Amino acid sequence: KKFVFMFDQAGSSEKELLGGKGANLAEMTRIGLPVPYGFTISTAACNAYFEAGQVISSQVEMQVIEALQTLEAKTGKRLGDPTNPLLVSVRSGAVHSMPGMMDTVLNLGMNDETVEGMAELTNNSRFAYDSYRRFIQMFSNVVLGLDNYYFERHLEDTREEKGYHSDTELTAEDWKQVIKEFKTIVLTYTKKSFPEDPREQLFLTINAVFDSWNNQRAVLYRRLHHIPGHLGTAVNIQSMVFGNMGEDSGTGVAFTRNPSTGESELYGEYLINAQGEDVVAGIRTPQPIASLEQDMPDVYQQLLETCQLLENHYQDMQDIEFTVESGKLFILQTRTGKRTAQAAIRIAVEMVRENIMDKRHALLRVDPDQLDQLLHHRIDPEHNLTKLAAGLPASPGAATGQVVFDADEAEVLSKDGKKVILVRPETTPEDIHGIVASQATITSRGGMTSHAAVVARGMGKACICGCESLKINLDSKQFNVESTTVKHGDTITIDGTTGEIFLGEIPMIEPELSDEFKLLLSWADEETKMGVRANADNSVDAQKALEFGAVGIGLCRTEHMFMDSSRIPTVQSMILSETMEERKEALDKLLPMQQQDFETIFETMQGHPITIRLLDPPLHEFLPDKEDLLIEVTKLQMKNADASELQEKQNILRKVRLLEESNPMLGLRGCRLAMIHPEIYEMQVKAIFNATANVMKRGIKVKPEIMIPLVSHVNELKEMRQLVNQMAEQAKDETGQEFDYQIGTMIETPRAALTADQIAEKADFFSFGTNDLTQTTFGYSRDDAEGKFLQHYVENNVLPRNPFVSLDQEGVGKLVESGVELGRKANPVLKTGICGEHGGEKESIQFCFDLGMDYVSCSPFRVPSARLAAAQATI
Ligand code: PEP
Ligand code: MG
Repeated sequence: KKFVFMFDQAGSSEKELLGGKGANLAEMTRIGLPVPYGFTISTAACNAYFEAGQVISSQVEMQVIEALQTLEAKTGKRLGDPTNPLLVSVRSGAVHSMPGMMDTVLNLGMNDETVEGMAELTNNSRFAYDSYRRFIQMFSNVVLGLDNYYFERHLEDTREEKGYHSDTELTAEDWKQVIKEFKTIVLTYTKKSFPEDPREQLFLTINAVFDSWNNQRAVLYRRLHHIPGHLGTAVNIQSMVFGNMGEDSGTGVAFTRNPSTGESELYGEYLINAQGEDVVAGIRTPQPIASLEQDMPDVYQQLLETCQLLENHYQDMQDIEFTVESGKLFILQTRTGKRTAQAAIRIAVEMVRENIMDKRHALLRVDPDQLDQLLHHRIDPEHNLTKLAAGLPASPGAATGQVVFDADEAEVLSKDGKKVILVRPETTPEDIHGIVASQATITSRGGMTSHAAVVARGMGKACICGCESLKINLDSKQFNVESTTVKHGDTITIDGTTGEIFLGEIPMIEPELSDEFKLLLSWADEETKMGVRANADNSVDAQKALEFGAVGIGLCRTEHMFMDSSRIPTVQSMILSETMEERKEALDKLLPMQQQDFETIFETMQGHPITIRLLDPPLHEFLPDKEDLLIEVTKLQMKNADASELQEKQNILRKVRLLEESNPMLGLRGCRLAMIHPEIYEMQVKAIFNATANVMKRGIKVKPEIMIPLVSHVNELKEMRQLVNQMAEQAKDETGQEFDYQIGTMIETPRAALTADQIAEKADFFSFGTNDLTQTTFGYSRDDAEGKFLQHYVENNVLPRNPFVSLDQEGVGKLVESGVELGRKANPVLKTGICGEHGGEKESIQFCFDLGMDYVSCSPFRVPSARLAAAQATI
């Protein structure tokens, strides 16, 4: 079996096998771009490595040696040759790009002999020794597991001793000395000398890169982005080109469009006389790419053309790494560039305008999950702001929080529910958990392509980089900007869109959809075959839903209308009433309020369909708290209070105890409540028809869809259907109005799904309540599972995803599927939809589309993303 592929042997379509980087290197080689030659060890070799207990098989070893020989022949250099040494880079490259999460080693092949050869060959001994010390540092960190701190500390001491300000001032002799010391560090901490044999270096590094697939940050990154753990990483071995050969050399990163705003401009950064990692590691703050035009006009022109070519070739914005060696441009890597939601939309829309692709492809270029970034708050521009400092606007959005200086602490505080902003001199991939836990990240060093920026953009978190006016003191946990001191725990607000930092908390305002966003969604609607409705139960949400493009309301939860504090006492007396008279009295009070609720919502929706679900209250959510009552009773007893007052409280306590349930979620909920007390639904249905009549008189068409919750036996629906029809007849007599209405049910228990054929005979529509269906299918309490064990399950791969977030297609999905099929068979005009939380999640939406559902319904803020996901499902 073939595990190792030369760049000019492999097909670019084999991304699964070669990883993203490997496939693109092969493709660029094929196109004829200036790519340093090399080969890729496949992801299959990585998986075989893990299966064999972290050993490279002799078969893979042989193929690597063979590929190395081909590389040597092609370059005319040899690994370890003292007079003409080949140096290589060894880089990870997974199928899905995971920037900075796995390991890389550069300058491999350096030892005490080859360094001399390099010095002679390039006539530049400073360069040779600098490269050697870089190699020792990187290899020791990545392969030998030594903390970079030891080396950096030594470098710092050396600089101080010699009175230098930066590394570029160190001479060849200085580096020679540093190298000696570095080797002593290695010997001291690993008890072994630094390996001088280049082949040994190579295989140790390949092992380490494979191992880095399972390092902590890579595992965390995969979990955050739902990347499966079985894919493995490829390893790319490529002959080195050198950006640190002098002033006519350099290295950089270029995005073919601005990844923050989407603007069509070359965007990126570079460093003169530097090597790859210097730019992304954020240790030196690089130059903006525009100034390359002055520094190296020919290279700039060639880079510009190459970027255009790659963008047109891949039909997407590219993130390109390049190196200039003595005035000659090399492309080291290209990949689809990570971008903010705002940029994703603008790029997609503009690429259609520029005829690079058609609308359908453009729709696939935007990730629905990303869109909610755009639906979040912005700083209120009307507010008076005290600006503290400004850095590079690395990832947009606004955030407020307490300042912390440590990633671990950020994580701990955020678990306690605190909002924090992580402030660091620079970030390394090891800080990723802190970035995840924080509202936003600020660094004082490093550019827009540093790891902090890339990771934050990918997660839609605000980020400011290279804010050099911040003088951070990690020991005293504070930073200064001129004379202002901000301490650990102080609150600041940041605007990642402008790069500004403000003192204190600043009010935020609601977002608006940009014209490009609206345009893209209108293209989505042209493709969609499934309606997107919203879950809304008041006119504010209904208004939002319409604004975001919902075609109707798929779930109006009427119990939310009962939760208004002014109504709670009446609702409680309705629930607690012991006689029919008492209950009627409370219901009579609620009727006009309910009617008004419906009138308002019907008017807001202006004729769009509305599914109204009759009351589904887990009773405990409405009853007075038992503990509170007990305390009140005890207090009254101690006070020797008025007997009648005491008696009244005791009476309430008694009734609350009577109604108390061990499992309220499985108790007197949904239609069961109305089976026992039909007068409650009668009141609601009456309110619906009265409101319909009134609003119709005002010229607005209303066709209510009345939905019965938590049905598990057809007989429940049969009885409720009769109730609704009777009330409709009665309302018709009273108002003189003809009604056009439908009666449907939620399918949210396994039994309902399994007997959907019987139920469908009594229903005009089904709406899958996948929250309860997930709860009852798994037997997991919706209220408790997440905190108690689900998180553990997901972290330990017991479950691939949280089933309350993304529909469990294998289990719960089977019930949904049989529900739709059985229902349709018995009632061919049955309308079907979903209204559980899953209705706004892209994979669940795809699943619903595949089953042929008519609509999905989700919270108003998720409507834009659901519209896009619904379109993608059809494409
Ligand atoms: C459901 O169970 O999926 C549903 C939409 O109803 P609720 O969340 O109100 O129980
Ligand atoms: Mg439910």
